[in-house]
Amino acid sequence: MTRRRIRAEVEGIVQGVGFRPFVYQLAKDFQLGGFVMNTSYGALLEIEGAIEKTEGFLEKLSSAPPPLARITNLTSKEIQSENQSDFVIKTSEASERMSALISPDVAVCDDCLAEMFDPMDRRHLYPFINCTNCGPRYTIIQDIPYDREKTSMRVFPMCPECQKEYHNPLDRRFHAQPNACPVCGPVVTLTSSTGKPLDADDPIAETVRLLKKGRIVAIKGLGGYHLVVDATNESSVKLLRERKRREEKPLAVMCPDMGTIKTLADVNPGEERLLESIIRPIVLLAKKHPFPLTDATAPGNRFIGVMLPYTPLHHLIIRNFSALVMTSGNLSEEPIAIDNNEALRRLGDTADFFLMHNRDIYLRSDDSVVTVDNGRPSQIRRSRGYAPAPVFLRNKQPQILAVGGEQKNTVCLTKENRAFISQHIGDLENLQTLDFFEMTVNHLKRILDIEPECIAHDLHPDYLSGKWAMEHRELGIEGVQHHHAHIAGVMAEHGLEEPVIGIACDGTGYGEDGCIWGGEILVADLRRYQRIGRLSYTPMPGGAAAIKEPWRMAVSYLISAYGDDFDQLDLPFIKKRDPEKIRILKQMAVGGIRSPLTSSLGRLFDAVAAMAGIKEIAAFEGQPAMMLEMVHPGKIFQPYAYECENKDDAFIINVPLIIREVVGDILRNEPVEKISGRFHSTIINAFAQTAKEIALKTGIGTIALSGGCFQNRILLNGVAGKLKQLNFNVYTQQLTPVNDGGLSLGQAVIAGARIRGG
Ligand code: ZN
Ligand code: ZN
Ligand code: FE
Repeated sequence: MTRRRIRAEVEGIVQGVGFRPFVYQLAKDFQLGGFVMNTSYGALLEIEGAIEKTEGFLEKLSSAPPPLARITNLTSKEIQSENQSDFVIKTSEASERMSALISPDVAVCDDCLAEMFDPMDRRHLYPFINCTNCGPRYTIIQDIPYDREKTSMRVFPMCPECQKEYHNPLDRRFHAQPNACPVCGPVVTLTSSTGKPLDADDPIAETVRLLKKGRIVAIKGLGGYHLVVDATNESSVKLLRERKRREEKPLAVMCPDMGTIKTLADVNPGEERLLESIIRPIVLLAKKHPFPLTDATAPGNRFIGVMLPYTPLHHLIIRNFSALVMTSGNLSEEPIAIDNNEALRRLGDTADFFLMHNRDIYLRSDDSVVTVDNGRPSQIRRSRGYAPAPVFLRNKQPQILAVGGEQKNTVCLTKENRAFISQHIGDLENLQTLDFFEMTVNHLKRILDIEPECIAHDLHPDYLSGKWAMEHRELGIEGVQHHHAHIAGVMAEHGLEEPVIGIACDGTGYGEDGCIWGGEILVADLRRYQRIGRLSYTPMPGGAAAIKEPWRMAVSYLISAYGDDFDQLDLPFIKKRDPEKIRILKQMAVGGIRSPLTSSLGRLFDAVAAMAGIKEIAAFEGQPAMMLEMVHPGKIFQPYAYECENKDDAFIINVPLIIREVVGDILRNEPVEKISGRFHSTIINAFAQTAKEIALKTGIGTIALSGGCFQNRILLNGVAGKLKQLNFNVYTQQLTPVNDGGLSLGQAVIAGARIRGG
C-alpha cells in the first residue's frame, strides 16, 4: 500500500470555531497520522497515510468544514514521509504572518442551551455557557493569536473540570477560549441605579420580576448594554422613550421564539432563516394588524425590528415574556455603554436597575439591523455577528484605512483581497463617538495586523472623520467623493471593474462644486467618475436646519417652482407657520444667504412629506421621507409630468416641475396615499429614464444603485425593476448598507485602485 504525507495550509476563519477537533476526528476517521495546529494566518496540518485516504480527507475538509469555519484558501503539497501513524493537536505558535481571521460573535448553540436547561448538568441555568461552536469572540478579543490570555476571559482561571474539557481534543469545549462554569467563570449582579448590589438570591429571577412590574432594567449583553422594558406595557415603553430622549424612532424587540414572533409580524422564509441564523440580527418585519404590542414600540411604522435571544442570559430572561423592548444602552446618539461604571454613570438616570456581569467587553458592538426583500438580505446596520468577517475583493489591495462618512460611520481596512468593515460606530458628532472611532481603528489595525499606507476619506470639510484623516496625513491621504464611494461599494461587493452607471439616491453628500449632492447619476469606475445626471439645484436655507425642519425645505422648493407667488398658494402647511419666519426664509433662499444649493433626493422626499402635511418637523433623520413611504399603498400609480433636460453634457431632472404637480394634487385635496404613490412613480421613472438615456449615449449596460434613499423599498424595487425590464444588469449592495455605513468599503477600493493604477 502506497503511503504519502501531505502538508496543508488553511486560511480563513478556522480559529475558535472547533476546527482542530474537527480535523482530529476526521484524521481518525480516515486512519491518518500527522498533526494540526493554529498559526497566525490560520491553521497548518500534516496528514500521512494511504493515498486514497489522504484524498478523501482533503475532499471532506474542503467540502464540509465545521459550521462556523470559513476556509478561504487551502494549499497542499506532498512532503517527506515520517511514518507517523498517530494524530496529534499541537498548541499554537506565533508566526510572522498574522492574518488569521477572527470570528464574529456567535449566538449560543442548541447543545449549550440543552445543557443550560438540564437540571442535572453542572451548568444548569448558568448564563455564560458556551463552546467552540458558539459564544463571544470579536467583542472580547484584545489581540491575536486568539487565545484565552488575549481575551477578557484571562481573569477567570479555569476550574479542574473546565480545564479537562478545554484540553480534551474530543470535547466540544476543546480550546473554547471563553469556556466557563458557575465554579470558575463570570457571574451576574443586580444593582440599583446607583450601583448598590441588591440582596437577591437569584438576580435573574429578580430582574424578571422587576421587568414584569414595568421597571426599566439596563442589561449587559454581548456587545454592550441594552435598555430593557416589557414591550406589552405601554407606560413603561413611553417612560423609556422619555428618559432616553428618543421620541419617535422605532425600538427593537426580542421575542422568545419564532412562534411568538409570528403573532406580531408576518415572517417569510428568508426572514425566518436570518432570524434563526447564528448572526441573530434585528430583522425588520411587517407588523400584523391588529398589533399585539404597544404602538409606542414603532409608532407610525409598518415595520417592527425583531430579534431572537442570542446569549444564554437572554434565554433565561426572555422565556418569561412574549416580547421585551431591547434598545441600545445609550442616550440619543452616543455610543452604546459597555463598561459597568460607565453604564451607571451614563444610564443611571434612564434605568431603574442594572443587571451587570464581570466579563469585560473590549469592543462595543450594536445589534445588526437587516431587511429581507425578495428573499435577499439587505443591511441597514452591519454590526454584531457580521464584523469583523471580511468582504472578499476581486483584486489584492494595498493596506488602506478608509474612515467612512459622518452618519452611521464605519471604518474599513484592507489587506490582500479582503476588506474588513468595522462594526457600526455611529454618528460622528460628539467626542464619545470619536473616541470609539479611534479605538476601533487601533483595535482593528492590531488584530488584523494592518499598517495602512494610505487613509481614504470623504471630501466634506466638516466631517470629523475627514478631519481625523487630515491629522494623520503623513500616511498619505486620498479624498473620495461621497457618491463615488457609494457606487464603488456596490462595485466592490460584486467584483465589478468596468465602468458602470451609478445611481446614488441619497440624503447629504459633499460635491466637488461645494454643493450638497444627493440625487446623482454617475458614470464611474473604481478610479474616477463623471457626474452625468442629477436633480436640479434648490437652495437649502439654513443648511442643517432645513434637514431637521423639512417645511423650510418645502418653502424653498415652492419658491423655485412659483417664484414670489408661492405664498398665494392655499397650502395648509404654510398657513401653520409664522409669516415672519417664512419671510426670512425667503430672503435667505433668494439671496443665497447660508443657503447651499442641493440636488438631494432625501431633501425632496422630506419636503414632499412636509407639503402633504404628513410630517413637517423630523424627529430623526429621514423620518418624513420614511413616513411618505409608509403611506404608499403598494400599487402602481401614474407618474406626474417630469422632464429631464440635457444641458452641457449633463442630464438635469427638473424638480420645480415635479413640485408644481405635487402642489396641484394637494390643492385638489387628493389623499396622501395617492400623492405618495404618484411621487414615488415619478422619481422611479425619472431616474430610470435618465439612466437609460445615459446608457444609450455611453454604451454602458451595467447599473449600480446605492445611497440612503434606497432603504426605501418601493424606490429600490421600482428603479431596479424598471431597469431590469430594459435588460440592464442591475446591482445593489447585500453585504454592506446602502446608507453611509457602506461608504468606507467604497472609499477603500477607490483608494486601492488609484494606488494600484498610479
Ligand atoms: Zn455552544
Ligand atoms: Zn469551571
Ligand atoms: Fe450618503
